[in-house]
Amino acid sequence: MSLRKSRRPELLLWGCLFLSSVSWAGPLPLSHPYRGGIIVLPIAQGGQTLPKAYFKDRRVMVIQNKAGWYAIIGLSLDLLPGEYQLQAVDEDGGNTAYRFLLRNKKYPTQYIRVKKKKWVTPNASQLKRFFAEKKKMQAVFSTWTPAYPPVLSFELPVQGRLKDNFGNQRFFNNQPRKPHSGIDISAPSGTTVTAPAAGTVTLTGDFFFNGKSVFIDHGQGLISMLNHLSKIDVSTGMRVRRGQKIGEVGSTGRTTGPHLHWSVSLNDSRINPLLLTQGVAGDKGQ
Ligand code: ZN
Repeated sequence: MSLRKSRRPELLLWGCLFLSSVSWAGPLPLSHPYRGGIIVLPIAQGGQTLPKAYFKDRRVMVIQNKAGWYAIIGLSLDLLPGEYQLQAVDEDGGNTAYRFLLRNKKYPTQYIRVKKKKWVTPNASQLKRFFAEKKKMQAVFSTWTPAYPPVLSFELPVQGRLKDNFGNQRFFNNQPRKPHSGIDISAPSGTTVTAPAAGTVTLTGDFFFNGKSVFIDHGQGLISMLNHLSKIDVSTGMRVRRGQKIGEVGSTGRTTGPHLHWSVSLNDSRINPLLLTQGVAGDKGQ
C-alpha cells in the first residue's frame, strides 16, 4: 500500500465531537486493502478530540493508540482496484487528503438453485415491498453514532458450520445476482443466536429476502445484520451485550435451509465479518 499525504485548504464544516480520548490498548485490525476488506490508515491529526474522517462522503471509524490516530475504513464490494482518498477534517477546518491503493480481489462464483420463482424474479408487489424494505435498511447502514472506544472485534453469533462465502458472485437458477455480502453459518432451526458485540438494536422486522432480521449498531458506523431467524428476542432501541441472545436460527426469507446470514457494514460498506473475528477463521476461511 502506498501512502502519500497532501494538504488541501478546502474548508469543511467542523462540528466538533468532544469525547474524552482513551487510547486503544488492543491490537489494531490488519489491513486487507481490497473490495470487501478494510484499511487501517494512520492519520496525522493533532489534538485529543476525535478527528472526523470521510470516505466517499461517509463518516469513517477513527481510533487512537499510543502511536496516534487511525482511520478504519470499510471497502465496499463494488470498488475497483486503484487509488482512493480519505478526507480528514482538521480542527482549524482544513481538509487533509490521505491516499491509498486498493488491489484486485477475486471471489468465487456460486450457483444456487431455489424452487420458488419469487426468489429469482419477484413480481411487482414483491419488488415494491423489497424496495421499501431496502430504503429502511439503507437508512440503518448509513448511520454513524458516536462510540469510544469503538468495537473492533466480534465473536461468532452462532455455533454451527461456518462458510466463508463472503463476496461470492451468485447465480440463482443460473441468473446473476448481487455478490453475497455476508457469511452463512448453518445450524439447526431454534439454535440460539447472540450479539457478536455490544450495541444497540436499531431495526428488526420480517423482510422479503432476508426474513426475520435484527440490526445492531456497534457505533462509529459499524453495524451487524443477522438474517433468516425463526424468532426475534429483542426490539428496536434495546442495548445488547456481546454474547446476549437476540433470537434463534431459522429459514425465513430466501434460504435453502436453516442458517444464519451475518453481514457487517463499516461506513456503509459491507465487509467480510471474519476480518474482525480473531482466532475464529483466517482471511480465506473454509
Ligand atoms: Zn447468506
